[in-house]
Amino acid sequence: MPFEFTDYDPYDFANRRHIGPSPAEMAEMLSVVGAETLDALIDETVPASIRQKEPLDFGPPMTERQALDALRETADKNRNLVSLIGQGYYGTITPPVIQRNILENPAWYTAYTPYQPEISQGRLEALLNFQTMMSDLTGLDVANASLLDEATAAAEAMAMAHRVAKSKANTFFVDENCHPQTIAVIRTRAEPLGWSVAVGDPFADLKPGEVFGAIFQYPGTYGHVRDFTDVIASLHAASAIAVMAADPLSLALLKTPGEMNADIAVGSTQRFGVPMGYGGPHAAYMAVKDAHKRSMPGRLVGVSVDARGNRAYRLALQTREQHIRREKATSNICTAQVLLAVMASMYGVFHGPKGIKAIAQRVHTRASILASGLEKLGYTVEPDAFFDTMTIDVGRLQRVILDAAVAGGVNLRPVGETRIGISVDERTRPGNIEAVWRAFGGTFAFAAIESGWRLSEERLRQTDYMTHPVFHMNRAESEMTRYIRRLSDRDLALDRSMIPLGSCTMKLNATAEMLPITWPEFAELHPFAPADQALGYRFLIEDLSEKLCAITGFDAVSMQPNSGAQGEYAGLLTIRAFHKANGDDHRTVCLIPTSAHGTNPASAQMAGMTVVPVKSAENGDIDVEEFRAKAEQYSDRLAACMITYPSTHGVFEARVAELCEIVHEHGGQVYLDGANMNALVGLARPGDIGADVCHLNLHKTFCIPHGGGGPGMGPIAVKAHLARHLPGHPMLSGEEGPVSAGPYGSPSILPISWSYCLMMGGEGLTQATKVAILNANYIAKRLEGAYPVLYKSGTGRVAHECIIDTRILQESAGVTVDDVAKRLIDCGFHAPTMSWPVAGTLMIEPTESETKAELDRFCEAMLAIREEARAIEEGRSDPKNNPLKNAPHTVEDLVGEWDRPYSREEACYPPGAFRVDKYWSPVNRVDNVYGDRNLVCACPPMEAYQEAAE
Ligand SMILES: *Cc1c(COP(=O)(O)O)cnc(C)c1O
Repeated sequence: MPFEFTDYDPYDFANRRHIGPSPAEMAEMLSVVGAETLDALIDETVPASIRQKEPLDFGPPMTERQALDALRETADKNRNLVSLIGQGYYGTITPPVIQRNILENPAWYTAYTPYQPEISQGRLEALLNFQTMMSDLTGLDVANASLLDEATAAAEAMAMAHRVAKSKANTFFVDENCHPQTIAVIRTRAEPLGWSVAVGDPFADLKPGEVFGAIFQYPGTYGHVRDFTDVIASLHAASAIAVMAADPLSLALLKTPGEMNADIAVGSTQRFGVPMGYGGPHAAYMAVKDAHKRSMPGRLVGVSVDARGNRAYRLALQTREQHIRREKATSNICTAQVLLAVMASMYGVFHGPKGIKAIAQRVHTRASILASGLEKLGYTVEPDAFFDTMTIDVGRLQRVILDAAVAGGVNLRPVGETRIGISVDERTRPGNIEAVWRAFGGTFAFAAIESGWRLSEERLRQTDYMTHPVFHMNRAESEMTRYIRRLSDRDLALDRSMIPLGSCTMKLNATAEMLPITWPEFAELHPFAPADQALGYRFLIEDLSEKLCAITGFDAVSMQPNSGAQGEYAGLLTIRAFHKANGDDHRTVCLIPTSAHGTNPASAQMAGMTVVPVKSAENGDIDVEEFRAKAEQYSDRLAACMITYPSTHGVFEARVAELCEIVHEHGGQVYLDGANMNALVGLARPGDIGADVCHLNLHKTFCIPHGGGGPGMGPIAVKAHLARHLPGHPMLSGEEGPVSAGPYGSPSILPISWSYCLMMGGEGLTQATKVAILNANYIAKRLEGAYPVLYKSGTGRVAHECIIDTRILQESAGVTVDDVAKRLIDCGFHAPTMSWPVAGTLMIEPTESETKAELDRFCEAMLAIREEARAIEEGRSDPKNNPLKNAPHTVEDLVGEWDRPYSREEACYPPGAFRVDKYWSPVNRVDNVYGDRNLVCACPPMEAYQEAAE
């Protein structure tokens, strides 16, 4: 025999991709943690009482090729027609340079939310461009860095209006020309807060004295372009707030919300280069008048300075508002839509104001030509003045024309029983317009119909926009490519190093899982396309839902929520609806441990519940006696409790089932925050433990990348008795209570989670959980001599993450947790989760994806930092002027004068840092206070760049 056959399978999940440590490395790590085998470690760690009885099983794992074949087959079940449906979603052309270099580039999509500004300057600049573009287009002063979708942005605007309006009224007025999904989401949000919603014609039905605010769609969902200046003035006279939901492309031509004196503008930036994706993800925007900027939800990027006085970007103000305000927060936004906002901002950079205007004009002209053709056929096109959308009354011909259009490859929008809506977009070709005419019975050639304007002078915008130089650079593709590359080079993402963020589960986003999301059959479907064109999506959503049910031990899933926090909100609304259906309207109290993630109390508040905090015991577990006492105290009014499992302290609490029983005894329901599901999959199921509903962060446990702060998906799973109370959607047979604009949230990223499940199989998913626990215990073991490891189980084990206490360094050497975090940047690492759930500590979650070598590199960096602090303790290092206090160090520190008492070598090459592949932070430590005092949230003028360069 020429060679011996190996039994190594090069395509086995255990040898590639998701499981970082090799079997040999695992053996070494097990000996460090002092466990015989991986299963022995798991038995010591996960309480027997909660272990699931049957192994997770959904067939053998697929190889990458098999999984991609399955995805291809599924994609082919979708039919990709030209959709001129509009209603908030439009065809758009993603510039290939953006698709390849941002959407398909791990340097962008694997980054985390930019809480550590020094390693996030690239995406912060892209987001600042987004804010500048949106405040320019809307004519308002300050824009945020994205919200989840247009409908939730409108609901956020309502909540904000309630907060800032001087009016004491209790009603919010909604223009009947708003998109139906927007109206429905606003109703969902208003109801638990006790506000009424009045839907009507703003020019006939609005009574300014009786509302705290109003929202108008611009252009309206049926195409109307109206001037709201007078209506807004009358709202202001009554101390109410005016919101406009405005399409950003139309604003290139139309008089702006700012020019009409609106207070808030919201909308979707989908048509700025982000495919429709059967509903998402895309970035919504919110822009406000200066007076309201401190009340804005979501994240705001601001300009500040670093320790050398150079310009640096950072998240400003209320960036973690739910953590600070908790149950007093008016919004629970955590994960937003950063990657999509970055794409939209780059679309703005790519086209510039001239290009955007040209696209808007072309869309308008083609829509006008389409309308002229229809008029030639004898149809009346409404309204007279439109931008891209028109409505035609066709009487009994509605079905016939819609079907004929589909036969010609075009989807149109049914409006009521007798009308048809048509929206032209950037992708609409002359042939598509001819196909529409044919469906209406006309056979003109596109070139034969004269173009015209449908917008009169007084409706047009008179102001400039996107005047900043970044929107005027030479856009040769070489420059565009390099700009995108330059920004991503400033950032630290998973493509460079592990990101050990406790609770956030920054695990591998495998390339094979990412490939399908840009396939046109997934990317380009309109969310309201006829159901028979989306059979692939239906199959995928059903199969993934079944798998999530098997994983969680629940019976039904809703894919609507676009983030974990939205999942919490949707889950609590489900519980609320259940109590109402039982006649238990008075059940409104929600018990929440004080260690809970800030989104929990914020979501409970939004769901109309009263938050009752429950303290933790000394060992970090929920104090069961206190919990029982609170449940008894509020027994009559108990609606729910929210628990995180394993706890936010990274421990499997053995008595969790008892907590669930207590809540049930008192008539409440158990909400389980599933953010820590990476410690459970295949080992224990929330449904078996006693929970009634949980959310899953698919962007944590199920491999959807964080995108620098979104997209996300936070589906909720429920027991059978709650299934009929899950959120509905107006586009799904008139159901009530949607929490998102799209019926399935952001379906175009679901192929990622689905492929992950297919390629791992039940066995692989379970192995991932076990290795995640091993990796965390390995880190805890290696660091425990240097730092106290807080919160272990009775057996001395941590779950999938561990909290290390850096407060000892503060006491002995004046070194803060911030200093440690910034020094880790010099070592080439993103800091772990800082000061949560315990102030002054770091929470480390390595995940199963990291190899032993990477874990060791991280541990060596942490141990070296401990030694640097010891040098201060022992007087060998200056307490104020040392590598920890001055971190991070930049290339600037390598040149010019050096008067520090430590060497440049020590400064820039601490243990852990690579020599050749060293990550250089582009700025020194960023001054947070300066940025908040001198709030600048748009691109600084060019002179400022000049100064910075000098
Ligand atoms: C991440 C997280 C959330 C919020 O999820 P988002 O998707 O960011 O909204 C809630 N609870 C816990 C414990 C989390 O870690």
